[in-house]
Amino acid sequence: MKIPDIYKEKKPVFSLEIFPPKRKSNIASLYQAVERLAQCDPDFISVTYGAGGNIADNSTCEIAANIKKEYGIETVAHLTCVNSTREDVQEMIARFQDADIENVMALRGDIVPGEDIRREFRHANELAIEIQRKCNDSLEILGACYPEGHYQSKSLDSDIQNLKYKIGAGVRVLITQLFFDNNAFYNFVGRARSVGINVPISAGIMPIVKASQIEKTVQLSGASLPHEFTAMISRYEHDPAGLYEAGIEYAVAQARDLIRSGVDGIHIYTMNDPEVALRVHEQISDLL
Ligand code: FAD
Repeated sequence: MKIPDIYKEKKPVFSLEIFPPKRKSNIASLYQAVERLAQCDPDFISVTYGAGGNIADNSTCEIAANIKKEYGIETVAHLTCVNSTREDVQEMIARFQDADIENVMALRGDIVPGEDIRREFRHANELAIEIQRKCNDSLEILGACYPEGHYQSKSLDSDIQNLKYKIGAGVRVLITQLFFDNNAFYNFVGRARSVGINVPISAGIMPIVKASQIEKTVQLSGASLPHEFTAMISRYEHDPAGLYEAGIEYAVAQARDLIRSGVDGIHIYTMNDPEVALRVHEQISDLL
């Protein structure tokens, strides 16, 4: 099914994100996680694309295709372009089509210091144009957006102006970077709508349940941290079980507020941990 059609039929759309395991030998545990995640009946699951753009050992396509086939859950295969040649991108698009994938998230990818940047695609909108050129409308295109601005943009306004290039290139659904302050999301959506960005925008929520995620994910994301969030982190600094419960509670409160405010979709960054996603789902399912 085409993802934009799901947004036409229901609100909020509930989706999940997983990532391919670093080692292929861990693939069985990913499918076990998907089996558990299937219990929350997601509208779709998106599968990230490994940074670096190496297509030879990339398993995004295979995983997205298997989830669709084995579990009957719609999928979105992510694709990055900044480290890829046009040929690589075309090969990957052909693989997606051969595997009956109908939805792709067009991304630039992060620029890894010291790594070779191919100059064939500089931005996600250029990738979206290539996908459209190769597939007409047989692949639906999703894109990323940043409620607090992308880390390389001068301002939120200029980032939103650049977002219009993606929409112009055929992106029909947006999913946000994680954030912890719903006001940042509401402000972003208001500004995006005011410049004519009218596609559905799903809110990306990451439950923070471990101290290690604070350093790795929270700090790298650049998301602003409301007082309530920092108070939770300090309160449970030496209490892993307490942080686990409080992190789920925070994500649930965020999602419930967003749904009550009419959000188009909730997208959970699962970090391949089905138990956390299931706990959040259980506590918002009355609103879905
Ligand atoms: P772009 O849209 O190209 O934007 C990057 C910067 O360029 C922004 O500052 C923007 O304002 C500016 N810009 C955009 N278009 C133009 C233009 N035409 N002219 C001038 N400036 C422009 N990374 C992965 O490696 N794999 C993944 O699977 C993955 N999945 C993601 C999913 C989501 C929902 C999100 C939010 C991010 C994901 N990322 C992933 C991370 C993403 O690749 C990085 O955030 C990257 O730095 C930017 O990607 P983008 O597609 O938003 O880039």
